[in-house]
Amino acid sequence: MKSIVVANWKMNPISGKEAKRLFGATKKAADAAKNVSVIVAPPSIYLRELSIGYKGKRLSFAVQNVSAEAEGAFTGEISLAQARDAKATYALVGHAERRAMGETNDDIRRKVSAVLAVGMTAIVCVGETTRSQDGEYFDRVREQLATGLADISASKLGRIVIAYEPVWAIGAEKPMSARDMHEMAIFIRKAIVDQHGPAGMNIKILYGGSVDGTNAAEMLRDGDVMGFVLGRASYDAQKFSMLMNALSTT
Ligand code: PEP
Repeated sequence: MKSIVVANWKMNPISGKEAKRLFGATKKAADAAKNVSVIVAPPSIYLRELSIGYKGKRLSFAVQNVSAEAEGAFTGEISLAQARDAKATYALVGHAERRAMGETNDDIRRKVSAVLAVGMTAIVCVGETTRSQDGEYFDRVREQLATGLADISASKLGRIVIAYEPVWAIGAEKPMSARDMHEMAIFIRKAIVDQHGPAGMNIKILYGGSVDGTNAAEMLRDGDVMGFVLGRASYDAQKFSMLMNALSTT
């Protein structure tokens, strides 16, 4: 099965010209790694130009955040109809940086429903802020999944991707260990099966947090994940190409 890489460019690069250049490099690296599906999540202001100009089939597009509202007086927000019109087929929901700005599990629940309602796929980000010995982080992740997916029927789970991104590993020096990720993947699958029944066994799980070309292959092999959400290794063309190289030989 193909692995999945989500290239979350965050608020980069600084100009449309740079975005086109980065997209060109992303396309090239993706073309060379046929066993990897790449989902590019550029800043929304660049999305349409990149997606409309793209004629290939190797890449898909995502928005980094969406409104749960359909339309109206919501200054600065982007609706799902607008995202879909700009050729996004995926939406990141509940990224740690959005949660840090105040997004709640309940906001995420509403957004996930809205994403599915327009026929797109939701990449639902979960992950604890810190880890302590008492295992409290499991409760945190269970709650994020329980509320975030509360309105989803089991038949819709195919259009949900869970991105487990422990906040302490985002923007850090190294990712969590593949062994700990494996344990978390089992936990996530069990939490979803408890909530939605056996269909939860097939849930797609990604890992995010300091992944790059030096550690991705091991995580893919031993971490029980289908792929990754990338921050820094996606908006640095050289790092992205190294990572895709590492995955294409895995
Ligand atoms: C992220 O923000 O989702 C992320 C994984 O960032 P980084 O790869 O830079 O740690």
